[in-house]
Amino acid sequence: MSAHRKPYVGGNWKMNTDRAAASELARGVVDGLDGAEGVQVAVFPPFPYLLTVGSILRERQSLVTLGAQDVSEHPNGAFTGEVSVAMLRDCGVSVVLCGHSERRHVIGETDAIVNRKVRAALAGGLDVILCVGEKLEEREAGKTDEVNERQVRAGLADVSAEELRRVTIAYEPVWAIGTGKTATPGDAQGAHEKIRGVVAGMFGPGPAESVRIQYGGSVKPSNAAELMGCPDIDGGLIGGASLKATDFTAICKAADVGARV
Ligand code: PGA
Repeated sequence: MSAHRKPYVGGNWKMNTDRAAASELARGVVDGLDGAEGVQVAVFPPFPYLLTVGSILRERQSLVTLGAQDVSEHPNGAFTGEVSVAMLRDCGVSVVLCGHSERRHVIGETDAIVNRKVRAALAGGLDVILCVGEKLEEREAGKTDEVNERQVRAGLADVSAEELRRVTIAYEPVWAIGTGKTATPGDAQGAHEKIRGVVAGMFGPGPAESVRIQYGGSVKPSNAAELMGCPDIDGGLIGGASLKATDFTAICKAADVGARV
């Protein structure tokens, strides 16, 4: 991580918790973070709990921001089951994940769909975390950087330099998500550096220096500090470990401490 990029940690709760557990987790995160001011933190509860979690964050005057795990590319209309940018904003959401690997590879979202979601979210005033990353077979075929470049270029197509300031990239190697396998800090750093280079090619060196790139994939309190210490890793997107407030806040603090080194 670099001194001029504020580290950013997100907790992606995926399809977990119920209303009581989501409330308890939100309180635990807010209370556990106290004092960690050198790190930006967001939580991404399931849609039905956004209002509940949002009101807890507001009640406690927390700086933790409310995020959503997905959004429709469409503004409104006959799209059964979808949730629009305006609806999310109405619920107090300020940031959305686009192109999480579970949506790409389980639900079947293409690069083109991800790009339309990114653009709809940015146009509607939401910040975006664009998730990219290679599958195991792509890694084994030596295609990690190629896949990341394709997903970054496609995801950010027609995004302006001004809008890019509201975008964070999350590098999440698919084989490391929920598997307990983490990329080595060296591998992760290498991928992040390449991704920053792709952003430089698209937007120029200034925006590339400013854009934050989170690492995601089995980040835990025990490996967070080492990952966060890498020069191009600017925080993390946390799945499993974000469901336990003590683990999640420990990771946030590891990112915070890294910023001060
Ligand atoms: P994990 O998930 O931390 O459980 O590996 C990360 C993610 O999918 O964002």
